[in-house]
Amino acid sequence: MEFEIVIGLEVHAQMKTKSKIFCSCTTEFGRPPNTNTCPVCLGMPGVLPVLNKEVVESAIKLGLATHCQITRKNVFARKNYFYPDLPKGYQISQFDLPICEHGHVDIEVDGKSRRIGLTRIHMEEDAGKLIHDDREPKSYVDLNRACTPLLEIVSEPDIRSPQEAAAYLKKIHAIVTYLDICDGNMQEGSFRCDANISLRPVGQAALGTRTELKNMNSFRNVQKALEYEVRRQRDILLDGGAIVQQTLLWDPDKQMTGAMRGKEEAHDYRYFPDPDLVPVVIDEEWIARVEANLPELPNQRLVRFMDDLGLGTEEATILTGERALADYFEAALADYDNAKKLANWIMTEVMRVMKGEEGMDIAHFPVTPANLAKLMAMIDKGTISGKIAKTVFEEMIHSGKDADTIVKDKNLLQVSDEGEILKMVQDILAANPEQVQQFKEGKTKVMGFFVGQLMKVSKGKANPQMANELFSQELGK
Ligand SMILES: [Zn+2]
Repeated sequence: MEFEIVIGLEVHAQMKTKSKIFCSCTTEFGRPPNTNTCPVCLGMPGVLPVLNKEVVESAIKLGLATHCQITRKNVFARKNYFYPDLPKGYQISQFDLPICEHGHVDIEVDGKSRRIGLTRIHMEEDAGKLIHDDREPKSYVDLNRACTPLLEIVSEPDIRSPQEAAAYLKKIHAIVTYLDICDGNMQEGSFRCDANISLRPVGQAALGTRTELKNMNSFRNVQKALEYEVRRQRDILLDGGAIVQQTLLWDPDKQMTGAMRGKEEAHDYRYFPDPDLVPVVIDEEWIARVEANLPELPNQRLVRFMDDLGLGTEEATILTGERALADYFEAALADYDNAKKLANWIMTEVMRVMKGEEGMDIAHFPVTPANLAKLMAMIDKGTISGKIAKTVFEEMIHSGKDADTIVKDKNLLQVSDEGEILKMVQDILAANPEQVQQFKEGKTKVMGFFVGQLMKVSKGKANPQMANELFSQELGK
């Protein structure tokens, strides 16, 4: 039996505002526990929340960037549940009147474009954090995160594969970081996602029973967790079993999902409008002003890279897929004018290093854009060969030094002295009479052997073009 996969994602993006959503405490990450708190975010009796206008503006930006309708009259609602990380006993969120509805984003998978609908985007406050002590039967609570502003972005169940889910998540990540409303840091939890997934026989209209997946803190984990869950559900269905509706946690170490205990089991949130907050009315003028000041979005940058810089679709797609990567590329391009060569180097050398090292991100890449530009210019000028450049690049990553210093320290300058290379060429030809004979009999492939020998002797430093010319000249005699 063939199954169709149905996935919907809920993304929580923490806004980059300086202060929290309903009080003036800082949102700075990594401060000592419970120091970023005040009576409002600690949920003391009698305090009143005051809405941070910047959060509303961020939501309007995201709504416009994702083709949503912006709700003119916004109401905040209380979502009631009891848990120690939530001091008030309820979370202030939005329920039936979210700020954005009916949007969409387009994703590309295997060269095909697909449109994924957005059901809604709403504003809410985050809860605190529980820290469990494994050695003692104790838990600690840190309320620094309580009341920090979140936008929850809910997709339609339009996603049809784990690969599409990862592409969708990357697109939302790109949009919030291009808009500069969220730092996108998945490790610190400022960009996180939950997924709903179900399978149904191909051709069936009704949705199958779904499970909810949590705790996927990287794009890779989202895809892997969903792939695992597709296999698990398919096996159960093929065996004639039934899927149990439940919340599952992804365990990245065991590479499997497990049932979750605790607060996320079925409950009634008893939503009702928050009587402490008046409705927020957004007028046309505000929307028009935000729209006029929207920064360049991923798709616009992609078109610019292709039209103005002459990059191909694939190069432009990869480079603009992540804002920090596009920024790095453009910063290097400020000191180096061959966009194609630079794009190629970033997509091969820089991205290879990034893939190989866990947790390395382009914003903290050890080779600065300016230093990469210098290295590229040294290749173009013939100061170093392309081959040596790769060695220099490795050294730049590990030592943090610039290309100039490394080339001088390690004596890696390309040898372009004709006399010096000619001497090496003549020595090699004299030492290999057999191959010289082969060449004269028409086996021109042995040229590769000669050049290889020369690179060995010169430790990769001989100017390859000059070497080829000199070999041809000498062999022609
Ligand atoms: Zn506070």
